[in-house]
Amino acid sequence: CGIIGYAGGEISTRAVDVVLESLSRLEYRGYDSAGVAVVSDTLAQAKKAGKLEGLLAELRTNPLPASSTAIGHTRWATHGSPTDENAHPHMSFDGKVTLVHNGIIENFAELTKELRDLGIVPVTETDSEIVSHHLALALAERDDLTAAMRDTVAKLDGSFTLVAIAANTPGTVVAARRNSPLVVGIGEGENFVGSDVAAFVSQTRTAIEMGQDEIVTITPDSVHIQTFEGDTVEREPFTVDWDA
Ligand code: GLU
Repeated sequence: CGIIGYAGGEISTRAVDVVLESLSRLEYRGYDSAGVAVVSDTLAQAKKAGKLEGLLAELRTNPLPASSTAIGHTRWATHGSPTDENAHPHMSFDGKVTLVHNGIIENFAELTKELRDLGIVPVTETDSEIVSHHLALALAERDDLTAAMRDTVAKLDGSFTLVAIAANTPGTVVAARRNSPLVVGIGEGENFVGSDVAAFVSQTRTAIEMGQDEIVTITPDSVHIQTFEGDTVEREPFTVDWDA
């Protein structure tokens, strides 16, 4: 439902703080669960069914490690009831990637079967978790999160905004979209992706709209957009002109 991704230059609490503030700005969209993930030495995440306050309380008790990179999600369940497990982010079977997803993966039954044939058993009822495992399998072959995302989206039918981070690439967030919105926010020494500009408008008003079937890779000081086929896309930013 609501999505935010953040790539910053410093290892601090800022990444999680930015994501949590963003999730509260995205509450207006309606949601049933919320979650956040970071990359530090490994991937770490927290997710809770119910209001954002439940996630915040969980994080006060069990804070996430300081990090430069974080993703967050407010969920509006389509596949699987609103439980803590079904909330996003969804970590892969090998702990190498975690992702958030808006939309519906229509061929998820078939993609689940492919995983089961490899001995990978889903732990949630969501269509989104399945994508996480496929992304991890692709990453194991490619050793590059953007290339792995390209391989993964090629297998998906349906609508999706996907935002992923990987344990071996702190400082990098990769996002993709089809039939579901995605906007990039350009900061100074930090960059953002969001399901809409509300996700990051309190941090930056410089944004780039993502086109259909495109992937973006952000680091603290770079933004690279490409098509699902891997062709680089050059697109001018616009200025968000509404009040934060
Ligand atoms: N289909 C996914 C789920 O049920 C994503 C829902 C959403 O867009 O929030 O978890």
